[in-house]
Amino acid sequence: MAITKEIDSKIIWDLLAAIPDPEIPVINIVELGVVRNVKVANESVEVVITPTYSGCPAMQMIEDDIKEHLKLKGCQNVKVTTVLSPAWTTDWIPEEAREKLKEYGIAPPEKPTSDFDALIGKPKECPQCGSSKTELKSQFGSTPCKSLYVCTDCKEPFDYFKCH
Ligand SMILES: [Zn+2]
Repeated sequence: MAITKEIDSKIIWDLLAAIPDPEIPVINIVELGVVRNVKVANESVEVVITPTYSGCPAMQMIEDDIKEHLKLKGCQNVKVTTVLSPAWTTDWIPEEAREKLKEYGIAPPEKPTSDFDALIGKPKECPQCGSSKTELKSQFGSTPCKSLYVCTDCKEPFDYFKCH
């Protein structure tokens, strides 16, 4: 049976889904929404990625991980192309991945619901106890794409994945 281009790119997508996000290991880079396209032609593979935000230090790591992982799986000719437009948005993170974030202790991104909210939104609830009483402690959490909150009920600090 001849392997069609379609099957090849499906295999590549599956391989990419095995690569964890360097900052949040419970979700993979496909779930993070940074992989935009996979092009397979003859022996070469091109993976098109869009950075989560410009200057994100994890992007170089993601690019290296893609090349290394696909080479280990036998793809000799791997090219990673970065496309900046359309810009990445947290809307590209699917529901299942948002659940994984929450289980990991990170409040998933929420769209701002009022003009009073900052553009980055705010957590709906504490990922630990589910309380809606949360307080912003710092605009920057463990990484610049998250902010640090504390729950006023269980007193636990947690990261909020900024809406973007
Ligand atoms: Zn709490």
